[in-house]
Amino acid sequence: MTPICLVGIGKIAVDQHVPTIAGSDDWNLAATVSRAGTVDGVPSYTDFDQMLVERPDISVISLCLPPVPRYDYAAKAIAAGRHVMLEKPPGATLAEVDALATMAQAAGVTLYTTWHSRMAKGVAPAKAWLADKEVTGAHINWKEDVRRWHPGQEWVFAPGGMGVFDPGSNAISIITEILPMPFHLRTADLKFPANRDTPIAAQLQWTENVSGDFDWRQEGPQSWDITVETTAGTLNLHDGGDRLMIEGKEIAAGDNREYPALYDRMAELVKNGASEVDVSPMIHVADALTLGKRIIVDPFHF
Ligand code: NAP
Repeated sequence: MTPICLVGIGKIAVDQHVPTIAGSDDWNLAATVSRAGTVDGVPSYTDFDQMLVERPDISVISLCLPPVPRYDYAAKAIAAGRHVMLEKPPGATLAEVDALATMAQAAGVTLYTTWHSRMAKGVAPAKAWLADKEVTGAHINWKEDVRRWHPGQEWVFAPGGMGVFDPGSNAISIITEILPMPFHLRTADLKFPANRDTPIAAQLQWTENVSGDFDWRQEGPQSWDITVETTAGTLNLHDGGDRLMIEGKEIAAGDNREYPALYDRMAELVKNGASEVDVSPMIHVADALTLGKRIIVDPFHF
């Protein structure tokens, strides 16, 4: 088993990364780095540089930090000759991810920009079905409760936190994967709470009749749905891509194995000496933040 170090023991590390690594035959959680979080029975460090020096046995680093602090950790890990796996979105800016890709290539290590929603059960069969279809439109309906999924996480509303595009990039990672034609943003309405630096809701209109409604204020049932209209019928992805329906018939229903699939892919990339770097979902987010009309809404407090 390959020794791996998890950095940033917060919500997603505890919810997904730790149990996924524990359940995998490929990986051994050999250390953690976090200012406050630890994992029972695993050597923990608070200083990343110290871990890199003291643990030459660890060849792979998985970064579960928010996007803004992540670059410095990734750059140090690559400079120390380690393979790096990045949570989504892969960085705070496009240029920094590009820089990491260049560094990883020069150092001969793997860099993997993970997009967990692309591993949802319905995504690959949706892509395969759409490959030879004529798409007449697509719509994203992505509405969830920020207090439930990011409890008290102030970074999501700080510059670089991306606001509703933190989960919204999951939906965009799916449509950039499955739609068979290119599309680009035409307009965006972005709703910023009066006391925050990132949007809490957004409506996007792309070319090719592709659109999206994103909202972080939805309590009760959560909506993670994508509809694609084609001349051959309608495709629906529900539950964040885990459930695929075509013309009302269920084609795939998921078992929520997105993170095991990400770690399997990382094992494959390391074994093959390859990298996988895809910033296309981030390009659409950056375009929305560039082009978007800013609308001020009620202040938001956790
Ligand atoms: P989080 O719990 O707020 O942060 C993860 C950990 O990062 C924290 O526990 C903290 O650990 C460390 N950290 C935070 N700010 C830091 C800083 N400035 N410098 C160094 N370390 C810092 O966030 P999360 O929900 O796990 O999200 C992390 C990433 O996973 C995000 O990119 C998010 O998009 C992605 N993600 C989240 C979810 C979700 O449901 N929440 C789902 C999928 C993906 P210490 O304070 O102990 O150092």
